[in-house]
Amino acid sequence: MIPRCPNKNCSQTSSIIKSGFFFRKDDSKKIQRYRCQNCSKNFSRATQSSTYRHKKRRINSLVFKFLSSGVSQRRLALNLGVHRLTIKRKLLFWAKLANSEQKKLLQNLNQSVSFVQIDDLITIEHTKLKPLSVSLAIKADDRTILGAVVSQIPAFGHLAELSRKKYGRRKSTQKEGLNKLMEAIAPAVHPLTYFESDEHQLYPPLILKHFPGSSHQSYPSERGAVTGQGELKKIKFDPLFSINHTCAMLRANINRLFRRTWCTTKLPEMLQKHLDVYVHFHNTQLI
Ligand SMILES: [Zn+2]
Repeated sequence: MIPRCPNKNCSQTSSIIKSGFFFRKDDSKKIQRYRCQNCSKNFSRATQSSTYRHKKRRINSLVFKFLSSGVSQRRLALNLGVHRLTIKRKLLFWAKLANSEQKKLLQNLNQSVSFVQIDDLITIEHTKLKPLSVSLAIKADDRTILGAVVSQIPAFGHLAELSRKKYGRRKSTQKEGLNKLMEAIAPAVHPLTYFESDEHQLYPPLILKHFPGSSHQSYPSERGAVTGQGELKKIKFDPLFSINHTCAMLRANINRLFRRTWCTTKLPEMLQKHLDVYVHFHNTQLI
């Protein structure tokens, strides 16, 4: 198939002719060149590709797989023999692609999801004095991740006072985060959906606001089965097993969400991007 002319002001579609090849050293491929006879624009099959002007194309899929399999950015850079900034750029590339693919997936579900579980997973921004919350929504019957949104929360428990002393008052953006999550999943979710969650006080009003016809069941929180593994519960039947299992998968496969790790999130927006990549991996490779 002959591509369209990349010149936005050029309306001609039938004036494209083939115009030789060039050899792309990066992945040892012969790339077809084209020429538009209408506007004299030269371009190639690579021009409109999502990997246009990429260096190190060969590692793209490896980066996607390993960033979703618990490998740190620095160790990945070391093992693939590239600079860590290359890995960071690849993460940004995959996050953008993952985002648009996730939007397509939600559109394709076309309000067919009728059973949703939601939960929040706590992580940190560099120090435990600056906690973050990842609000997660899944399709409960097959554990497809519908959305994951990062928001800032104030420190709690015995660290609250120390956090205020050292960093000042930390605003909570969790309500905005949950609003964003609800808006994002709306194309996939049926208006009369059945929601399940723990007893988080923000959930009922927000579910009611975005899905007025839905029903919501909340369950009290249970203790984790193994110390440090709060997601998998020590009870015979866990009604929230699907969402807890998905949270455990996130903790096991996103390096910066590991418990007792020295790899931590430095920027919440990069955690969001890493989550977007994992969500795409999870929904396409594991479901
Ligand atoms: Zn043209």
